[in-house]
Parts: sequence; C-alpha cells; structure tokens
Amino acid sequence: MAALAGADPAMVVFTGGGTEANNLALRGCGRSRVLVSAVEHPSVLEAADCIDAIPVDGNGIVDLVALKAMLGDGSDAIVSVMLANNETGVIQPVVAVAEIVHAAGALFHCDAVQGAGKLPLDFRSLGADMMTLSAHKIGGPKGAGALIVADHVNLAPIIRGGGQERGRRNGTENVPGIAGFGAAAQLAAAEVVDAGILEALRDRLEAGLREHVPGVKIIAGDAPRLPNTACVALPGISAEIQVMALDLAGFSISAGSACSSGKVKASKVLRAMGQPDDIAACAIRVSLGHSNSEVDIENFVSAYSDFAKRAGATAA
Ligand code: PLP
Repeated sequence: MAALAGADPAMVVFTGGGTEANNLALRGCGRSRVLVSAVEHPSVLEAADCIDAIPVDGNGIVDLVALKAMLGDGSDAIVSVMLANNETGVIQPVVAVAEIVHAAGALFHCDAVQGAGKLPLDFRSLGADMMTLSAHKIGGPKGAGALIVADHVNLAPIIRGGGQERGRRNGTENVPGIAGFGAAAQLAAAEVVDAGILEALRDRLEAGLREHVPGVKIIAGDAPRLPNTACVALPGISAEIQVMALDLAGFSISAGSACSSGKVKASKVLRAMGQPDDIAACAIRVSLGHSNSEVDIENFVSAYSDFAKRAGATAA
C-alpha cells in the first residue's frame, strides 16, 4: 500500500473505505474551516457540517484564484481537492493547489481514490498532508480504504476506543480486506505502466461516438483526464434510459457517479461545471479496463449509435 502511494508504511491508516478516510481527514484534523472543490465526491462534500465550495471552471478544474481569495489566513482551515474526478476523469492541478494552501498556513487533503492505479502516485511530490485511497477502485475488496497521513499532522480519531492504527482509527482492522487491498495495490502499481493502452481505446471510443452519434457531447474532452474514463452526454435522453438500453445491449455503464448508480439524478458535478440540465441529467460515464479490446469499443459505438437513432425516433 505504502509503495503504491509513495509513502512510508507508518503513514498508512487503514479504514473501512474511501468514504471513512475522507471523513477522518476532514473531521479529525482539528481545523474549523473546511474548503472543498465543488466537484468533490459526496463523502467529501458532506463530511462536515459547514463546508465552503470552491468554484470550478467549465472543465471542472478548481479555480485557483478563488481558492486563494477564499482561504485568506488559512491557519484554521483544511482544503480538500481530489486528484481526479469520479464522473468526468478530469485531473486537478493538485501540486499548484498544495502550494497555495501551504502558503496560507492551511492543511491539504487529496482524495486520490480515482487516480490510484491509473496515474503515477507519489504522496510526497503531490504535496498533500493527507491522501485517501479505496481498495475496490483498484480491483481490491469492498470495505477497505486508507488515509495516508504525513508525520506532522495531528489527527484525532472519529471512532474512539481500542487504540488500533496508532490510535488514529480504532476498532479491530478488517484483515482480509486489508490483505486484498495490499495485493490489489501491487497489481495496480504495475498497471499504471500500461495506461497508454487504455487512453488509446478511450480516444477511439470518443472519436467513434462523435462520428456516428449526431448531437453527442464528450464532457471535458480537451481537459487532462484519467486514461480510462469517458463522460458522454446525449442531450434530451435521460441517463437512466441510456443505462438501461446499454445494459440490454450487454454493456455495464453508469449514470453520474458510479458509486451511487441506482439513484439517478442530474449530476451535481456537471451542474457545478455550468452544464445545463439537459446535459447534466443526460450524461453517462464509460469506464474502460485492461480486459477491454478494440472489438469492445467498436461494438459499444455501434450499440450506442443504434440506441441514439431509436431514441431520437421515439422522441420525434
Ligand atoms: N472518493 C471518490 C472520488 C470515489 O469515486 C469514491 C467511490 O467509491 C469514494 C471516494 C468512496 O470510496 P468508498 O466506496 O471506498 O467508500
């Protein structure tokens, strides 16, 4: 785990998942002001009672000028900005964020759940004081996560009693989950090397959709993104309908945030990016893995294009 994160083993605090690690970071750090980017995962956006959202641009990239102005004297503050977004794959300028945050005397937490295994990860060069990881996002078991904590952070536990994880996360550890997390971390570190293969497949998928599906929109297509993620909108056709149609055609995709599939609403992330409702409620996320091939991409483009024609005909 520590090797995947570029950290020392003593910095790793195992938790019951990414959600708990995010809550531990923001609530256990002892800072009274919590500033987070407007496109964070709900486990960050809802972790504290009073949170200020830092605006983002049309690609979902955090506004550094606004961050600086909002921080002022940051000695009572913690800032949380994710490494990469779970709906769009957009990568944040975390090194620049860390510089601004530290210059103001604040702490910096980075939710790196989506970046692990897809981007090279190095806790120290990222500049974060704390960083979150989740086992099931790198092919490990559900219910295991980790918060990487720098030595200088004085972290108070949010679950008390027991003294496990050096008193920072009490309660008997989920040893099978953690062992699976460690095994997945070793494999994930090796997969980063092959990220270019996924990126080529993703680019091919997006090019195919642009060519064959009139009106389709690739969200944040020009921004720096994770190699495996495409966020695709078909204005006027709800994400829920798209997920069902693609499911019938044999493709597992998700509407909005993958973690909350099943409760389909307009995406808060896309709304924060200034997208109108006919895009925010009509966007799906397609994630590729190393088991996908060029044939899968062609089949997906063909199925999506057939569906779009039928949906257009029905709407007409
Ligand atoms: N942060 C991000 C960016 C995520 O995509 C997720 C999704 O699961 C989480 C946090 C929550 O992690 P977990 O499911 O392990 O609680």
